[in-house]
Amino acid sequence: MSIKVLCPDVISKIAAGEIVERPASVVKELVENSLDAGATQITVEAGGGGIDLIKVTDNGAGIPADEVELAFERHATGKITSETDLEAVSSLGFRGEALPSIAAVAKVSMVTRYRDDVVGTVVKLENGAVTSKGKQGFPQGTTVSIRDLFRNVPARLKFLKSPSTENGHISHLVTQYGLAFPEVKFHLIINGRTSFRSPGNGSLRDVLVEVYGLETAQGMLELGANEGVEGTVLDIHGFVSPSSLSRSNRNYLSFFVNRRWVRSRMLAYAVEEAFQGMLMTGKHPIAAINISLPPEEIDVNVHPTKSEIKFRRERQVFVAVQRAVRNTVVGSATVPSMRILPLPSVVPAFTPSLFARPASGKVTSLPQLTGEQEGAQPRPQLPILRVIGQLQNAYIVAEGPDGMYLIDQHAAHERVLLERAREQQASRAIEVQGLLEPVAIEVTAQQQELLQSQREVFYESGFHLEQFGERTYLLRSVPAVLRKPDITRVLAEILDSLGGLQESEWQESIAVSLACHGAIPAGQSLSLQEMEELVHQLEQTQSPRTCPHGRPTMIHLSASQLEREFGRR
Ligand code: ADP
Ligand code: MG
Repeated sequence: MSIKVLCPDVISKIAAGEIVERPASVVKELVENSLDAGATQITVEAGGGGIDLIKVTDNGAGIPADEVELAFERHATGKITSETDLEAVSSLGFRGEALPSIAAVAKVSMVTRYRDDVVGTVVKLENGAVTSKGKQGFPQGTTVSIRDLFRNVPARLKFLKSPSTENGHISHLVTQYGLAFPEVKFHLIINGRTSFRSPGNGSLRDVLVEVYGLETAQGMLELGANEGVEGTVLDIHGFVSPSSLSRSNRNYLSFFVNRRWVRSRMLAYAVEEAFQGMLMTGKHPIAAINISLPPEEIDVNVHPTKSEIKFRRERQVFVAVQRAVRNTVVGSATVPSMRILPLPSVVPAFTPSLFARPASGKVTSLPQLTGEQEGAQPRPQLPILRVIGQLQNAYIVAEGPDGMYLIDQHAAHERVLLERAREQQASRAIEVQGLLEPVAIEVTAQQQELLQSQREVFYESGFHLEQFGERTYLLRSVPAVLRKPDITRVLAEILDSLGGLQESEWQESIAVSLACHGAIPAGQSLSLQEMEELVHQLEQTQSPRTCPHGRPTMIHLSASQLEREFGRR
């Protein structure tokens, strides 16, 4: 269909608003245009977090020479013409707003050759106006280059996060489109380095391997369901994780409706509901789910970025998705699967000897208490406590000058480790534990962006990583507080938790994670000596009464309370 400006009454019915919020939104619009043009190969390049450069190259149909300038006019689209088309949109774009909106906030150049044209067309635009136009030899397809994004809108520039965070958004986005279009070969290059590549062979599982790594992808369960929703057929297919595989945030839930990548609380909720009772609280499944249904069953015209949609029969879609996921996951759960994770030989599994003082010689890497090292004891904020025993393998019962204290052993140890980690970060003296054999770690494209750009932060926290493959790293040492066998998972969780944070918050967030993962769990029985050591270490902390998450480390029952309760007063 040739490009035409929509008539005003169609325009008035299009959800208006801002499309270009951040560099990843530009990538989204350009990639959607390439997909709408029937491309089978799409290369995305980004530099400087997308501010310096975003370049998208495709081998799609191209734009006829005489329509190139029109493509940059508001409400010019080759995808719909009438209001009726709006009711059943089958292309990703339809608003005719992306190119002009981008051209208004960046320098744009486009080279394109339509399949029937013999030569390509080049146009350049600044501040939304064409500055040059010419002819150029070019293979069939389109390359759009965006430079200096938002340089003329300082307010918008200020709102952006660091380049590594913006790169993270870009790679998340491109991997999502990779999952939505397994038959298209995607190649993402960030700062000159390949960050993601999909094979384009039509296999969703093969894309999952590239996005989440081989081990995760192999464990995923295939979903297949045709559900009738009051006469119309709803096709649900894709992959979900088994209950044994989970993540600590919802970033791993991907939904595509009629091949459009959508964000939907309703769909996320349907999947999580299907896992009810199977995952620990705070854990979330991994899923890549495609839903196909007749276009008139959905309204894509509800949000300017088109990433939210409305289902005409939401309740039925919810039930169908939940049922399909539940059936798949429950079906697989009857076969118990146990995976043995490779254990780096030198990192001992957690043992209570963690509390032994270094003098015992058992754990040589245990850091000395700073107070002892410097001979300057911080003023204790806790009374001297005498340990009496352990309750439920989780609480330490102690006596103080004014009654009884119940100490949560995990929370208390978290506090101790948090302050130790902070001190070590501040003095740049992180205790590390070398691994005899390095552990290979596969990261997602988004995690890699964080790792690449902020390798020192991880290094300074005790994770010594070495790039090994495109998205594989060798972990050579870990912070000494981490004594768990599942270091890989801990590192992945730390990476995920940093995604939404400012860089200035990273060190503290890593310290909190290390404390949480390194701390002795509830359920672990402790000897009297170990409990005394823990209480002693807690006494040395700056804020002994709360854990890093703000929960209390101890409960106090005063002598007078006891007397009252027993009716002695
Ligand atoms: P929309 O996608 O909503 O139609 P855009 O502003 O994104 O609006 O694009 C305007 C038009 O330019 C499209 O309708 C399409 O005809 C053309 N176009 C944009 N990018 C490409 C591309 N990569 N290949 C072919 N045609 C394109
Ligand atoms: Mg578009």
